[in-house]
Amino acid sequence: MKALLVVDVQNDFCPGGALAVPDGDKVVSVINGLMEMFDIVVASKDWHPSDSVHFKKWPPHCIQNSNGAEFHPLLAANRINRVFLKGTRNKDDGYSAFEATSDDLEKVLREKKVVDLYVAGLATDYCVRASALDAVRKGFRTYVVLDAVEAVNVKPEDGVHALEELRKAGVALISSRDIKT
Ligand SMILES: [Zn+2]
Repeated sequence: MKALLVVDVQNDFCPGGALAVPDGDKVVSVINGLMEMFDIVVASKDWHPSDSVHFKKWPPHCIQNSNGAEFHPLLAANRINRVFLKGTRNKDDGYSAFEATSDDLEKVLREKKVVDLYVAGLATDYCVRASALDAVRKGFRTYVVLDAVEAVNVKPEDGVHALEELRKAGVALISSRDIKT
């Protein structure tokens, strides 16, 4: 089985949001198209308490139940089978979707006999990176869909470096056009 993991396509990570990824909203239409090619679609949400040490490092974003924590309004969220909430405690954690506290992502994927995990969403250099690295370490055949991710680029080359690190770790870097139904 193959599954699509949609990482953090939330208002605060899109233009106008509290921690916007430049062009973050560009992934939405690509991901909506991808979702139709997968029987299993899971998604993560950054879901922080308002008081968190995470915000010593980052501007406050994706506060639980706030509009900023909602999925981008054009994301076809009705096609998501299960949402995993991460960064839910007063800790600097939750970069990887596998750190979700609301549910065990690895367990859910194993129960559904997922072998191939396709990763899309935001941001290439943080939560996509951490999620894809965890996935490949856990033994999933892991793909990052290049036209369905965008980088924050706190430093200009961060996204490029993250993709290089992923490739070296055994993650396949592909285009959405390479995916067969
Ligand atoms: Zn966060």
